[in-house]
Amino acid sequence: MKLIKNISLVLPDQVLKRSGILFSNRIERILKEEELKAVEEKPDLEVIDGRGLYLSPGFIDIHIHGAAGHDTMDSTYEAINMISKAVIKSGVTSFLPTTMTMPMKSINKALKNIREVISRGTSGARPLGVHLEGPFINPEYKGAQNDEDIVSPDISLIENYLDVIKIVTIAPELEGAKELAKSLTQGGIVVSAGHTGATYEKILEARGWGVNHITHLFNAMTGLHHRQPGTVGAALTLDMTCEIIADFIHLHPAVIELVLKIKDPAEVILITDQMMAGSLGEGVYQLGGQKVFVKNGEARLENGQLAGSILTLDQAIRNINKLKVLSLPRLFNLVTYNPARLLGLENEIGQIAPGCRADLVLMDEELRVKNVYIDGREVVKEGEFNEGNH
Ligand SMILES: [Zn+2]
Repeated sequence: MKLIKNISLVLPDQVLKRSGILFSNRIERILKEEELKAVEEKPDLEVIDGRGLYLSPGFIDIHIHGAAGHDTMDSTYEAINMISKAVIKSGVTSFLPTTMTMPMKSINKALKNIREVISRGTSGARPLGVHLEGPFINPEYKGAQNDEDIVSPDISLIENYLDVIKIVTIAPELEGAKELAKSLTQGGIVVSAGHTGATYEKILEARGWGVNHITHLFNAMTGLHHRQPGTVGAALTLDMTCEIIADFIHLHPAVIELVLKIKDPAEVILITDQMMAGSLGEGVYQLGGQKVFVKNGEARLENGQLAGSILTLDQAIRNINKLKVLSLPRLFNLVTYNPARLLGLENEIGQIAPGCRADLVLMDEELRVKNVYIDGREVVKEGEFNEGNH
């Protein structure tokens, strides 16, 4: 059993100062300042001084393609493991490796690989399953996806991998979208509208099929017009969760502020949409079989189209914090409790509560990640990957 004491504990609704938590691979107990003394003296207890740092639940990234020179579509154990080691340094303890629109054969290979990686385990963050971004999307809103491999919605194309798929991004206006969305949501899989030319009315209809999430709000979808509210208008007014890429490149800070004022912040989830250049420098990379040029913090195709990001989730939190519109607990919920709840995993991850996995992030006053624990093991120490401890 371990005890971290002297922390500012970030709970879903409050910050508990000078507190502590007792944990093994799961969280045992939350201890207020006055309760610490009695527990501290127990024998066989490893006591860790939290040095007054913030302690948050591990972050969850539900939309990430790659990092450290590797991509989900590489479909190898090494690729996913290297991504898992890169992202845990930014406080991410769980993630959904995200596929791209590529030939169905390649997508199935990537799905099969993730299934194997999950059963084998990784050295870093824990892959929870897959976010399938395409191939059931609208070519007119393809973004950086390759339109040659776009196909009509059809469950038979993915039915052998439903156990590993957690989110599917589709364009609801496509023929066959309704049938696909209904079978997926009935099976407990999140269906998200994205890369879509859907009208407000179409999204309203899709909400009735169980579509309850929006992929990277504002990007690759119909925008807000005062007579045609589009996908954005529907996302902002209906009870749906919205992904936000908070790199201040995909969305102007004022637009993010607007979203956080209109939407219940409990319905907002930060994602990175990170591609393989994440954690690396400028240069030429790949995404979904296309060349991507990374320069000045931006990742773009040759034609200038934004192609994912090199944002990390801890940077996204620091960016949102600069807007000063959310309290600290609500800010952290954007990367912890909210994504966990979308996936139906809030009693397992995404909050510090007795019984939950001990996925923990220690951060300083500037919200820089210092130490990261996954299942109670310290995997990142003072910002560096702890090779001996996984
Ligand atoms: Zn993406």
